[in-house]
Amino acid sequence: AKKNGKNTYVFYEDLTDRHLHKYLLNLKTDLSDAIALDQFFLEYQPIMDNKGRSIKAVEALIRWNHPKEGLVAPLRFIPLAEESGMMREIGEWVIRQAVGEVQNWNATYGQSLSLAVNVSKMQLKFKDELLALIDDVLREHDFPADKLQIEITESDTVAEQKEIVAFITALKERGIQVALDDFGVGTSALFHLLELDVDIVKIDRSFLRQVPSSKKDTALLKGIYSTLDELEIKLVTEGIETAEQRDFVTAKNDSYLQGYYFSKPLPLDRLREVQDSLEGAVL
Ligand code: C2E
Ligand code: MG
Ligand code: MG
Ligand code: MG
Repeated sequence: AKKNGKNTYVFYEDLTDRHLHKYLLNLKTDLSDAIALDQFFLEYQPIMDNKGRSIKAVEALIRWNHPKEGLVAPLRFIPLAEESGMMREIGEWVIRQAVGEVQNWNATYGQSLSLAVNVSKMQLKFKDELLALIDDVLREHDFPADKLQIEITESDTVAEQKEIVAFITALKERGIQVALDDFGVGTSALFHLLELDVDIVKIDRSFLRQVPSSKKDTALLKGIYSTLDELEIKLVTEGIETAEQRDFVTAKNDSYLQGYYFSKPLPLDRLREVQDSLEGAVL
């Protein structure tokens, strides 16, 4: 291939692109049956208190078990689901499933963990149907509204600002908490914060990646904390992977903590193990 130089390279590139295209096209087709074939399931990642000592909430994260491809990551299939219009139905499945599972878990263990659910761009377009569904599911499972957190991705709030403000207002009227996810990745993050009356801001994990090793990143994160601390907004710092990062975050502010250091996303029936190991660590 090297001998033939550029042309061959381009040819292979095209072929790879074509393969990828076909692969994605197949995935897109398969998505439409995935609910009926019971191929989706949820994992939950713990969100810890500001010391990392106890679990306050869990974030539901969708998984697709594809019969041929194996596990397909949400960042791969969600965009396809958005394009094909499937995300509305998948998003409904997530809320129904997550509320049911967490309510059941809370009842079993006599706890009251909060549940965070991500909502995508397309779901925001059908906000009235989404609200009706949420009302329905909360009633059906007798799940307290103030234990539900809806995560909206910050960059999705750029378009149709009015609609999103209306959606947030409707959620808050019900006592449901609203979180701004992946904060800081989009442009004019602070502007969005002023426009949107959210309860929780989740600081994107890209800020933490080089903390405390990079001076610039560390300064930036400190700046975000001191700005947000002035506002009455709860913080969650995402992507804590090391004890050093945990120490940095716990020393600097009053943020809840989330990341592989505490736990990867896992099936709900393994959450007790995590709690047991936390209790063991305190003793
Ligand atoms: P997100 O909402 O920001 O969720 C956090 C993502 O970061 C998850 O990836 C989680 O596994 C990962 N993560 C958590 N802690 C760490 C860490 O310490 N290090 C690293 N490297 N990663 C960490 P996941 O499960 O692959 O999900 C990716 C994205 O897909 C989510 O980002 C969310 O935007 C979207 N997503 C997942 N499930 C759903 C869903 O049910 N509905 C919608 N609309 N979007 C979803
Ligand atoms: Mg999230
Ligand atoms: Mg998200
Ligand atoms: Mg996030």
